[in-house]
Amino acid sequence: MDGWHCCCRIDLQKIILSNSHKKILTELAENEKPNESCAILYGDGNTVKEIWITENIENSPIEFTLSPEQTLEMHEKQKELGIDVIGIFHSHPNSQAVPSSTDRKFMENNPYVWIIYSGVNKDLKAYVLESEIKEIQIEEK
Ligand SMILES: [Zn+2]
Repeated sequence: MDGWHCCCRIDLQKIILSNSHKKILTELAENEKPNESCAILYGDGNTVKEIWITENIENSPIEFTLSPEQTLEMHEKQKELGIDVIGIFHSHPNSQAVPSSTDRKFMENNPYVWIIYSGVNKDLKAYVLESEIKEIQIEEK
């Protein structure tokens, strides 16, 4: 995910996800098994409005990377949709929905809400990196 840059540091206590968005993410994660899946979440404040499913060019069960083209497109879409990138989703097909040490490194450069889905127990969890990784609430509506 080199080349991503921070446009704003968001200080969120929770993220609001509709049932249909949640379904899109969990189905994506299940369909991409055994590999990690990823998606970009666009929204307004702390409400997710649009989900853009991206391709994991690693095709890996333990890593995900967006292509430089997709990274560029992510920013173009932001302008096009007129809403900000607020979160990054990826799945952990074989582990808990907890950020790995690699995730933490990426979180430092991409200060969005990180939503992780566990293929093991189907947990969906959200995190932000402050001085430490903090879990925040996912509010469904
Ligand atoms: Zn991860």
